[in-house]
Amino acid sequence: MDLHPGEVLQIDTMLAGVPGMTGAHLIRAEQPALIDCGTQTSADTVHAALRDAGLGPDDLAWLVLTHVHLDHCGAAGDLARAFPKATVVVHPRGARHLVDPSRLVAGTHALFGRLSPAIGGLEPIPEDRIIEAADGQVIPLGAGRSLRAVWAPGHARHHMALLEESEGILFAGDAVGVQMGGGEMYPTIPPPEYDVDAGLASLDLLEGLDPGRMYVSHFGPVDDPGEALDLGRRAQKAMGQAAREAHAWAPGDLDALQRAVDEAWPPDEALRTPEALTRWTAFNWLDNNLLGLQGMVEREARDA
Ligand SMILES: [Zn+2]
Repeated sequence: MDLHPGEVLQIDTMLAGVPGMTGAHLIRAEQPALIDCGTQTSADTVHAALRDAGLGPDDLAWLVLTHVHLDHCGAAGDLARAFPKATVVVHPRGARHLVDPSRLVAGTHALFGRLSPAIGGLEPIPEDRIIEAADGQVIPLGAGRSLRAVWAPGHARHHMALLEESEGILFAGDAVGVQMGGGEMYPTIPPPEYDVDAGLASLDLLEGLDPGRMYVSHFGPVDDPGEALDLGRRAQKAMGQAAREAHAWAPGDLDALQRAVDEAWPPDEALRTPEALTRWTAFNWLDNNLLGLQGMVEREARDA
């Protein structure tokens, strides 16, 4: 294959035909690694992009998943079959969902309803193709280069970020937020596992890595990693706090929760262009944020 050390190829997975929503990232190296792969409905698009990048069926060494939400891992089964030498790397909490995706797929389809066909499912992946990444696990890319798995829960308990160590490139997945269509960074905090305290701790950890470059899954490189991490942290903190306060005086009232959260951290800057608004609403992601916060405060009330 065509080798350009250090180069990151950003692949637009064209989620449901919408550009600029969900990315996959190929690190070109002796042992090439693909980080995330989009939904199952994007498998052909991603496969074609890898072929165009010069990868033959035996050339992909690693398929690394930031977490097991279907917009990141749905194509993994199809791609594992298309690239039989690729090892799938995932957080230990996510591995069983790749082997038996039935619960993950059913839960996702319950959340997305009529949008589910645009997302698709997930082909099961044989257990012997999967490595469960320990926190700090190093994934060799050849020629002295490597990726380091950094557990970064919050968005989900099975979420991790990946640091390309020689150049300090951070693939943050969904830990920081979403920045699409010319909008500002804004948290993506879906059900069923979002946890603001874990999310804030993860952002502190990622900031400590002092990345020189950073990519988010939705979508692409960010201009200033330090600024983006700080913005993501302030937003999650404000939204989490507002959700807890709203729950204290109006438990279960989703409208009150929405008003409180919107007031604490208005989404206006994230939605400031028509393109940003289209992408945020195409898959109900704003509504899912509210459900994520509601799930969090209800869980906290139950556990108290
Ligand atoms: Zn995502």
